[in-house]
Amino acid sequence: MSTLTETDDRKAAALKALAEQAGRDLEDASALEILTWATTTFGARFCVTSSMEDAVVAHLASRALPGVDVVFLDTGYHFPETIGTRDAVAAVMDVNVITLTPRATVAEQDAEHGPKLHDRDPDLCCALRKLKPLEEGLTAYDAWATGLRRDESPTRANTPVVGWDARRGKVKVSPIARWTQEDVEAYAAEYGVLTNPLLTDGYASVGCAPCTRRVLAGEDARAGRWAGNSKTECGLH
Ligand code: SF4
Repeated sequence: MSTLTETDDRKAAALKALAEQAGRDLEDASALEILTWATTTFGARFCVTSSMEDAVVAHLASRALPGVDVVFLDTGYHFPETIGTRDAVAAVMDVNVITLTPRATVAEQDAEHGPKLHDRDPDLCCALRKLKPLEEGLTAYDAWATGLRRDESPTRANTPVVGWDARRGKVKVSPIARWTQEDVEAYAAEYGVLTNPLLTDGYASVGCAPCTRRVLAGEDARAGRWAGNSKTECGLH
């Protein structure tokens, strides 16, 4: 009889092979085709994660699987507009919004680590307020979808449409990896998809309020995230 670890290892190896094959097979597929593959393959073991910058991937996924789980990380540091976008998505779209929260409130984190940890040690702040809650929240799933796009920054230029998330042992689906910002805007306009109001107020990428600023002309979309710091990703990707 195999041990639990051997069973887990076999499952991870099978999911990894599945992800890598799908990444090759679906490279030229449409976003909806990629999500149809994901929802058909994983069913309730699939979710979309959304920062509520916009609801484009959530909308696409709801067309493939009405009522699909949409996971939102509420770090406690979001702009009110982001929380409002989440609430509007939950109210009007055929999705099941699930909000994940860190174990500690901002006040509890301040008491333990001192105020404004995001200024002094953003990696630790992201680990506590994003990575850990996501890791725990994703245990219910075998596959998750993101809104990553190759044109967002050099660090995202090689994002596969379906890949293997080795850190979490999950299939990672990026159905709009090949899209441009114009593609996102065109889809949102065609289907009337909710977008975060900050996107029309100078923000090209929306994260936590203390770590996000408006972008300047000529900057890439993520230049306003952790500006002045060498950090470019929160560690989720
Ligand atoms: Fe903390 Fe900033 Fe990371 Fe949000 S983006 S979790 S405030 S360091």
